[in-house]
Amino acid sequence: MTEYTEMIERKRKQLKAEEWAKGVQHIHVHRLTSMWYETRPEDMKMGNVIDTTYNDGTIERKLQNGGIVFMTDEKLTGDALIDAWEKATHNVCVCGTQDCATEYSCTTHGY
Ligand SMILES: [Zn+2]
Repeated sequence: MTEYTEMIERKRKQLKAEEWAKGVQHIHVHRLTSMWYETRPEDMKMGNVIDTTYNDGTIERKLQNGGIVFMTDEKLTGDALIDAWEKATHNVCVCGTQDCATEYSCTTHGY
């Protein structure tokens, strides 16, 4: 039965993580051509762009003319998404402990 319970638990986490993935991490209004994901420096000739980064790593750009482009194909899915969701919402340490009391040393000792 344990395996079955784990499967259900994983499914539950996955659904929550997928919901979280659509949330906005940050919005950046700029006309810089030096962003790490920049592949369209010509966009900035029209003026500021609005780059929205979602929790799953998707970066969406709104252009001056109202057009929308996606800046990266890389986004978190599966286990990586669940990991990111757990870290972001449950303060999970690199060692896997929630609200870890020795988070600093865990991080510096590198798990
Ligand atoms: Zn820790």
